[in-house]
Amino acid sequence: MTMRLVVVGGGITGLAAAHRAVEIAGARALPLELTLVEARERLGGTIATESADGFVVEAGPDSFLSEKPWALALCGRLGLEDRLIRTDDRFRKVFVWFRGRLRPLPDGFQLLAPTRLGPFFASSLFSWPGKLRMALDLFLPRGTDDEESLGSFVRRRLGRQALERVAQPLVAGIYTANPEELSLRATMPRFVELEKRHRSIILGLMRAARAAPQPGTSGARWSLFVTLAGGMEEMVSALATRLPAQAVVLKQRVSGLQRVGEGWCVTTVEGSIFDADRVILATESHVASRLLRYVDPSLSMLLGEISYASAATVTLGYRRADVPHPLDGFGVVVPRTEGRTLLATTFSSVKYPGRAPDGHALLRGFVGGALNAEILQEDDASLVTRVREELREMLGVTAAPVLVRVARWPASMPQYHVGHVTRAGMIGRLAASLPGLELAGGAYRGVGIADCVHSGESATERALGVSEILNQSP
Ligand SMILES: Cc1cc2nc3c(=O)[nH]c(=O)nc-3n(C[C@H](O)[C@H](O)[C@H](O)COP(=O)(O)OP(=O)(O)OC[C@H]3O[C@@H](n4cnc5c(N)ncnc54)[C@H](O)[C@@H]3O)c2cc1C
Repeated sequence: MTMRLVVVGGGITGLAAAHRAVEIAGARALPLELTLVEARERLGGTIATESADGFVVEAGPDSFLSEKPWALALCGRLGLEDRLIRTDDRFRKVFVWFRGRLRPLPDGFQLLAPTRLGPFFASSLFSWPGKLRMALDLFLPRGTDDEESLGSFVRRRLGRQALERVAQPLVAGIYTANPEELSLRATMPRFVELEKRHRSIILGLMRAARAAPQPGTSGARWSLFVTLAGGMEEMVSALATRLPAQAVVLKQRVSGLQRVGEGWCVTTVEGSIFDADRVILATESHVASRLLRYVDPSLSMLLGEISYASAATVTLGYRRADVPHPLDGFGVVVPRTEGRTLLATTFSSVKYPGRAPDGHALLRGFVGGALNAEILQEDDASLVTRVREELREMLGVTAAPVLVRVARWPASMPQYHVGHVTRAGMIGRLAASLPGLELAGGAYRGVGIADCVHSGESATERALGVSEILNQSP
């Protein structure tokens, strides 16, 4: 009998889910009727690339993590291996814009703490009392709180300067979140483990660095972040071409979900009706919450409790000669305490080859987030003016850009607040009790593209009963 699978949401999660269904159906000769319903007029969700005048502009994500294997593996299966590009690691440095100067994050700093003492002690980013407070981590006892905010953890182990000058701005660049609310266990479980096993974070990181293969000897093929030569949307296009003709339905916003007999009935605002044996909800969790309010009010309530932040990217292309700074790094993060508009700036044309035409530079500012949501009330022109003014102070750029793009992402970035792991577990258990329905996406167990690919593919494998990964939650 033909299996009718409806995937709701055509971002990377929904696309990965739909593609996995095609793979499984092909491998098992399973008759499959696949429908992917997307509200917008295009696929990709927050992934959107524009090529303009020789610039490659990423409106949303510009790369994905290679150390989580799923996105890389999917690119391999899509025949995109030759299109993958590495970061230019000659310029790995990240700057912190602190007290009016760009100060390099000390070599060997791993997200929250140093792994090399020489560069750390030589750094102008921290005062001597601040450095000594961080070094106190070597002697402090283990904490007792199993579910702690990232802010509380960093302050407790490494002190206020480590939080304000490094952890907060780096976290804002990744999660656009308030570190006082962000769950350490949900976002950076590695640090919870490091404290458990080694007591000291610095010692734990140093031991791990010693145990890891040295660069150049591991044969590591990929940099930590990778992207595609034509931009992230190449992945979206490649996925779309693997889906059967007629499977993708655009400009249909799903507004209703009803259990009918053994199956489901999916309806859209525009009046379409899709009958399904299996449904995968690959939307933001606030959308899943609305769709499930009559199906399972408790599940709907839990989904509604996951809050989202909004953000915008402001991308500016310049003649290289108009940017006085050497741009000898991947970019800049900006501590909240500096009171600026920018959360971070990526030197996109330095980080990846092929992002700007010869003789030009592409810079991308990131604004908004949980700690600066009100800025997004302003119009595009005002955001551009603010970003240009800060780039003038930061990099000395006074010339007018030759390219300007603003992209807004309202309620697009899930926030893993304290309690998230427990909430995601409960959501997984409640969802598992709804036969034929799966949840997938960045709201549950990882916010990045690699996590979303994994979440979408696993949802399909559960939906189609592929045995080895049955019982995994979203
Ligand atoms: C500015 C920005 C920068 C980022 N940078 C990175 C990065 O560099 N690396 C990284 O790994 N991750 C990054 N992320 C996160 C990454 O983009 C997301 O994890 C991932 O793209 C989410 O994919 P998704 O399919 O789960 O959700 P989305 O991309 O949000 O897709 C959900 C889709 O569901 C559709 N939808 C919603 N409601 C309905 C409905 N009722 N009916 C039908 N369709 C509906 C939406 O229109 C959308 O297309 C970034 C995110 C943003 C916003």
